[in-house]
Amino acid sequence: MNLGNRSYIQIKQSKANAAIGRCIYCDIHEPNVKLGREHIVPRSLGGNATLPKASCRKHEDVTKKIELYAARKMFQHVRLNLGLRMKQPPTHFKAVANFGKMGQPQNEFLVPISDHPGLLVLADFQAPKILQNPLLLRQKQGSIWFKVFEKPSKLKINIPNKASKFYHQIAVDYQAKLLAKIAFCLTISAVGLDSFNSQKIKEIICETGSDWTSFVGGTLEAEIEFEKGKVISALHRSVVFSRVINSAPYAVVQLQLFALYDTPIFTIVVGELTQAGFDKITAFK
Ligand SMILES: [Zn+2]
Repeated sequence: MNLGNRSYIQIKQSKANAAIGRCIYCDIHEPNVKLGREHIVPRSLGGNATLPKASCRKHEDVTKKIELYAARKMFQHVRLNLGLRMKQPPTHFKAVANFGKMGQPQNEFLVPISDHPGLLVLADFQAPKILQNPLLLRQKQGSIWFKVFEKPSKLKINIPNKASKFYHQIAVDYQAKLLAKIAFCLTISAVGLDSFNSQKIKEIICETGSDWTSFVGGTLEAEIEFEKGKVISALHRSVVFSRVINSAPYAVVQLQLFALYDTPIFTIVVGELTQAGFDKITAFK
């Protein structure tokens, strides 16, 4: 893969970060407010790196909402399958099955987890609109990516049907917000909060406007730089790099959640870099 003149930094999950000292979302700082640590990847998804003293109570509630949605609605099956930490592991999952004649309404019932095939479902987005070049665009608007964790089941569960149903229950906006939040924190970890314009990405995370489809999406084929065919040991993979958009350098993050399942790679355009930010990213080479 030709990387051109762009620079890449691979973020290690275990990286220790210095205290930020102000809320990364609203800039309120100590001693006016008590600041909590912000997990880069939510702990419920196996993340262990944090930004210490980085969010006020109000914005902890904002990100907690996104994280709870991800943990309980989007990734509960995969978390169980991987044995990730859970406060209250569920004992049963809802199953949808077709019994009887065609056209008959589906039955929905609870089955024990031990007897239930798991599912990992992600919305596979188009590239962020700000990056779109019709020649490079993957036509994947609204498509579903899913993985079934096979288990010997006596149940006649209609998995593709279930994936589709499950997908429609996912608030796609929440997936976008989760990706934006992780990318924002990764970029702060890489170059610091003052090295890029974070206005748009904060609006996406905090629901104060801004159409996320411009900045959060799938990956242009030509951008993929994670090496294909390589054994993946990391749970999630990420890379922060600078990319010129409309003649200005931007911090861009590529993120692959649960990479071991060969999941889609997402791209998040985090914000325009300052000269100092651009120099920091290129120094990581
Ligand atoms: Zn705040």
